[in-house]
Amino acid sequence: MRMSVSEAAMAVGGKWETDAVFSSVCTDSRKLKPGCLFVAVEGENFDGHAFIRAAEEQGAAAVLCHKRVKSGLPAILVKNTQTALLRLAAYYRSKFDIPVVGLTGSVGKTTTKDMTACVLASRYRTLKTQGNFNNEIGLPLTVFQMDETTQAAVLEMGMSNFGEISRLSQAAAPTLGIITKIGVSHMETLGSQEGILKAKLELLDGLKSGAPLLLNGDDPFLKDITYSSRPVLFFGIENQACDFKAEDIEQGEDSTRFMVCYERKRYPVTLPTIGLHNVYDALAAFGAGVTLGVPPRAAAKALSGYLPSGMRQRVVRCEGLTVIEDCYNASPDSVKAALTALGEMPCKGRRVAVLGDMLELGGISEEAHLSCGMQAAKNADLLFAFGPLASGYAKGAREAGMQAVWEFDGRAGKGPLIDALLEALQDGDAVLFKASRGMKLEEAIAPLYERW
Ligand code: ATP
Ligand code: MG
Repeated sequence: MRMSVSEAAMAVGGKWETDAVFSSVCTDSRKLKPGCLFVAVEGENFDGHAFIRAAEEQGAAAVLCHKRVKSGLPAILVKNTQTALLRLAAYYRSKFDIPVVGLTGSVGKTTTKDMTACVLASRYRTLKTQGNFNNEIGLPLTVFQMDETTQAAVLEMGMSNFGEISRLSQAAAPTLGIITKIGVSHMETLGSQEGILKAKLELLDGLKSGAPLLLNGDDPFLKDITYSSRPVLFFGIENQACDFKAEDIEQGEDSTRFMVCYERKRYPVTLPTIGLHNVYDALAAFGAGVTLGVPPRAAAKALSGYLPSGMRQRVVRCEGLTVIEDCYNASPDSVKAALTALGEMPCKGRRVAVLGDMLELGGISEEAHLSCGMQAAKNADLLFAFGPLASGYAKGAREAGMQAVWEFDGRAGKGPLIDALLEALQDGDAVLFKASRGMKLEEAIAPLYERW
């Protein structure tokens, strides 16, 4: 990118005195590239204004700030740097006439983002959100990565309260919107699933006029949505009326095969991951790709090249054990999806669920652990519950009739859990590890592999 301080100041309605040119945008002085515009963002625990001098020393070309700080850098002074960052991203985005997918939902965003990018990359040079960089800093920084070689982009939008998706969507100006699912994450701030739906539909605030919206046609909150001003397309498995529908799903040990039905034709997909929830994400990716010009056959083929990223559901074989490593995060929706996948995967031995706490659920926490425990009783033969909230899982499982239940409150670390697993597991077993990121459940997996 190449932009002048005067142009950026005009775009964000800021004041400036000295002009300069910058070639990238940065909010973290530790990752700063010389020649960038350093944006001093003020967070709860830090204030970027304290790092302006450091940014100057490291070669920043200019600074965007909302407090006056003594420095020799050409400055753009605004009322609020966070708002200005989003406005600057919206302005920069408007220079590119390319397909942009904006996606949100309670669960499955990153997976759908990666699968969609995989499909679009079969035809376009595609930019995507890196990792989980889906907030009001990560999204604008992704937008600034666009350059003249970018032919398409996929942007993930996360939120924890009203207004966020609206601001993100206005910065992203998507030409296609996806909502993966209305779940129960962030009930605390949004009140109810209706509240969550309302917050996710803020995606419309930035979606280009007439641009299509792609929704989960099996989700009770999304399946009947229509607009006179834009096409609404649906993906799903159960709802016959879906535009992109999966049929003949065969779940293998580490892959899933199915046919996508689209406009009365069927396209075979082999997805290198397990679980019906991933089929939904793949259908959304297929639908987005096809709607944006990827030939259906190429879209179906591209999905075989999808690689799960960063601790999300990876199937690993260790001697006689099959391990599903899924320690990236956990919510009631994703735990139930992972348990269902465990229950449906072919397995010679027993199915074992190792579940760590689901964090940040607020008022629904107790009930959520209980109901996931009940589901574990349905899909697994053994349950190992770990963490301060483990008793909820264990209680739910026992209430549903499961007897092989181990419970660890975590006070003695992961040692007792590992010991108990080593004692109980047998060749042929399939073991799911699933917990919130903060539980660091992966710390129980490595020693298991070492000592198995
Ligand atoms: P975050 O809020 O952390 O950004 P996310 O919405 O990006 O989460 P992913 O990272 O894709 O979601 O997946 C999180 C977990 O949910 C993973 O364990 C994954 O296996 C599971 N998951 C993925 N897609 C779905 C889906 N459609 N329904 C239910 N669970 C899913
Ligand atoms: Mg994510």
